[in-house]
Amino acid sequence: MNSDTPLLEILTSARAHRYRSVVRGAVDRTADRLAAVAAPTTDTPAQVLRDRVAAIDLDRPLGSADAAVAEVDGLFTAEAVWFHDPGYLAHLNCPVAVPAVAAEAVLAAVNPSVDTWDQSRIGTEIERRVVRWASGTVGFTAGDGIFTSGGTQSNLHALLLARQAATSTTAGRATTAGRAAGDGRSVAASDRPAPALDDLVVFATASSHFSVRKSAMLLGLPERAVVEVAADAAGRMRPDALAHAVAAARHEGRTPMAVVATAGTTDRGCIDPLEPIADVCDLEDVWLHVDAAYGCGLLVSPSRRHLLDGIERARTVTTDFHKSFFQPVSSSALLVRDPADLRLAAWHADYLNPEDAEEPNQVDKSLQTTRRFDALKLWTTLRASGAEAIGRAFDTVLDVTERVHDHVAAHPDLVLVAPTQLSTVLFRWQPDGVPDADADALVAPVRAALLAEGRVLVAKTVIDGRPCNKLTLLNPETDADQVLAALDHVVATAERLHAEHARATETTGATR
Ligand SMILES: *Cc1c(COP(=O)(O)O)cnc(C)c1O
Repeated sequence: MNSDTPLLEILTSARAHRYRSVVRGAVDRTADRLAAVAAPTTDTPAQVLRDRVAAIDLDRPLGSADAAVAEVDGLFTAEAVWFHDPGYLAHLNCPVAVPAVAAEAVLAAVNPSVDTWDQSRIGTEIERRVVRWASGTVGFTAGDGIFTSGGTQSNLHALLLARQAATSTTAGRATTAGRAAGDGRSVAASDRPAPALDDLVVFATASSHFSVRKSAMLLGLPERAVVEVAADAAGRMRPDALAHAVAAARHEGRTPMAVVATAGTTDRGCIDPLEPIADVCDLEDVWLHVDAAYGCGLLVSPSRRHLLDGIERARTVTTDFHKSFFQPVSSSALLVRDPADLRLAAWHADYLNPEDAEEPNQVDKSLQTTRRFDALKLWTTLRASGAEAIGRAFDTVLDVTERVHDHVAAHPDLVLVAPTQLSTVLFRWQPDGVPDADADALVAPVRAALLAEGRVLVAKTVIDGRPCNKLTLLNPETDADQVLAALDHVVATAERLHAEHARATETTGATR
């Protein structure tokens, strides 16, 4: 250390002017980049990006916030992946609402944590109000919930509550008899032996999000705990197969812990039949969790809310506002029908949230301790334009998807691999005469070539054992013609790679 060592500029009242100038500088640079975006990303080779990052000496600071921000602008922002560009069609990323971005800026400066009331005060009140509003859109009349970091955490949290309910009551019945004990642990409501973790069963489908299996692993359940229920041709859980699977598990002496229905599967965008699944869960008294990470936008859709009929019969629901509510990452919630369920995982610490606290401490309901006040972003969006505007935006995306589907289905060189109820397009380039093996072999190279070029970004996945390419539409500002133009580019890329491959094999054949 010497006198040249730069100062760490802490944000204080005395530095309000520094905040203003440094952050304005960052906003100005970013706004200039935004205005100039003409593709979802650049064609800078991956190795160049890696080398640029590696070349920076983290032990030799630039000496000023402005210099660091300028470096970030050139290093990161100039090479960013822009979800709002019409060519971005890869994953479940949405462009974001301006009021939410403004709220994010407020959060960045105030830096609240909504773990306890005394750290956030009105922030806690706002989060609680937004959560109650969101649980109302599900149809929970007196529901509750908590903001989380994402659908993965929301699913883990739901399954933790279900596990606590199953292991703290007689015969694994999913009642709320378990309650938080003085040491924070749930206690059994009866002296009957609780079911062993080894015997618990979670029912899902092959299309359920992988976080369900990962959660089961984290919750100490064996691999066999997640039972894959048969699905129909569209990939939706079959309620009759669910009823059989639950009965079979009980017959084997195992304990049904939860049924995970998905309202919008990540690949096929399909919605499991919620009413008949809820019927099975009611009859069998099994915890129903609905993973609506993707489909939650339907909750506020003026034209398609009926697709979620029955969701109000779930015990817990995952919503990802950072998918179909156009919110910045992160913004997700776990919603519960019965507020008491959140107590199944409550833990109390003397220094933070003692059991006898009179203040409403959100940490009582959360898996996290220090936690972002993400609720303010949705709050600000609701105050700016209301829920119906969000729902209409999602509807627009779904309308465009229908047009793209029709186009792909009618396209001579494309195969529509599977239908969807939401906004994915699963397809493969395969003109007549191109064998399956050749078409399958092109899926990964097409995605990679497009990514290297940066003009149109698509994804790839596997459906019914065969690879295919995938578009995920989530931009209400992109019209069908723009998506079709992007598809034309995908087709041209596939044709080029196919021709190159054919020439390469001819050459090898000739020299042999
Ligand atoms: C995206 C997704 C998740 C995971 O959500 P994250 O916010 O990425 O953690 C869970 N379930 C479904 C159905 C999803 O589409």
